[in-house]
Amino acid sequence: MNNNYDSNVDAEERDRDEWQRVHSAVEYADIRARNKVRIKTKINKKDVQVRDYYPSHDKVERKLFKYYCPICLRYFNTILVSTCCDNYICRFCIGDMAKKAKCEKDFVISCSHCNT
Ligand SMILES: [Zn+2]
Ligand SMILES: [Zn+2]
Repeated sequence: MNNNYDSNVDAEERDRDEWQRVHSAVEYADIRARNKVRIKTKINKKDVQVRDYYPSHDKVERKLFKYYCPICLRYFNTILVSTCCDNYICRFCIGDMAKKAKCEKDFVISCSHCNT
């Protein structure tokens, strides 16, 4: 093995890497063009807490989990409000739609409440 051969392999790997990066950037731009949903929040996703049932017997939790997502029917300490119709939707439901939009070419994210 000589040094020239090694450096050629390196260059090839790097090129492929860059192509992938550019390619995925184009894909994301395409998804963004089809889907007008933008999430504006200052709350970190890891701070979003969820309960499957309303904590009716726990005073502290009752105060904390005061938002209800009408899509997944769960309770949250924080929730997103749609700017189109002022309805609640949780971060996970938006996340599911975003995931679906990345996999299914024809899927368009729309508001679950008013369909805009
Ligand atoms: Zn939800
Ligand atoms: Zn809406």
